[in-house]
Amino acid sequence: MKGRFAPSPSGRMHLGNVFCALMAWLSCRAQNGTTLLRVEDLDPARCRPEYTEQLIRDLTWLGLDWDEGGDLPAYRQSERAAWYAECFARLEAMGRTYSCFCSRSELHDASAPHASDGTVIYSGNCRALSDAERAAKAAARAPAQRLWVNGDPITFTDHVYGQMKSNLAEDCGDFILRRSDGVYAYQLAVVADDAAMGVTEVVRGHDLLFSTPRQLLLYRLLGFMPPQFAHLPLLVAPDGKRLSKRERAFDVGALQASGITAEQIIGMLAWMAGLTETAEPCTAKELVPIFDLRKITKQDIVVSENLFLA
Ligand code: GLU
Repeated sequence: MKGRFAPSPSGRMHLGNVFCALMAWLSCRAQNGTTLLRVEDLDPARCRPEYTEQLIRDLTWLGLDWDEGGDLPAYRQSERAAWYAECFARLEAMGRTYSCFCSRSELHDASAPHASDGTVIYSGNCRALSDAERAAKAAARAPAQRLWVNGDPITFTDHVYGQMKSNLAEDCGDFILRRSDGVYAYQLAVVADDAAMGVTEVVRGHDLLFSTPRQLLLYRLLGFMPPQFAHLPLLVAPDGKRLSKRERAFDVGALQASGITAEQIIGMLAWMAGLTETAEPCTAKELVPIFDLRKITKQDIVVSENLFLA
């Protein structure tokens, strides 16, 4: 058994990231598995090396250790483009990819349908371009690359949310594999990496539940064995909005500055997740014997401003 934590270093870790890291780590340790850390720094515009260094310090402070990936380089997505290119070439050779020239404003046109997670459902506009049209457009701008999808149902069992079913044609349409600036898309990179690294279990936030069917299609097309999936409830502010990296009050730096200990954070998260009866401070290691994915609440977890005030 091998599980992983795969953060994007685009800011300081916040409580929501800590929650995902803790649950993924606990699930591995409870199964005597291997923990893997992979830094998803694909997007050079958003990710910075100093965030990666800070992330590693924060994980160490929290007492979460990684059997693989600890000293990074090959476990950083920015180092792995050749592997993504190889996976992309396989899909291209199957005739499953095509160039898309749609501009951001065309894609986000107000009339474009949206999926429940906010993803724009692609119209398929560039699917049917003739060779001549494609060549003319390519002279003007570099295209993105999309994967053809169809309406075949994709089903899987999520270890927290249960039976899931998706029709990609209706739920997202043909999706991006490589952006027009040449950066490989998260959907392709995450599958290429989890497969190559032998990951057997993915524990991550519920915001990615709707990405899983896209990833399962890629597993199928690339002939890789898919992992097990468990998605976690999201941590939200009292107004129901997701705790984001912009919300500084709950980043690890702000919590440390107000004197909160790693044990307080871990005890609080374990209680909010439904693992323990009280929010008593504890270490991650102490939670290993009681960890059970089936105990985790499906409801989003509301985090109030004065969470750590008695
Ligand atoms: N890198 C993604 C994020 O930070 C998570 C990827 C995953 O767990 O599949 O949101």
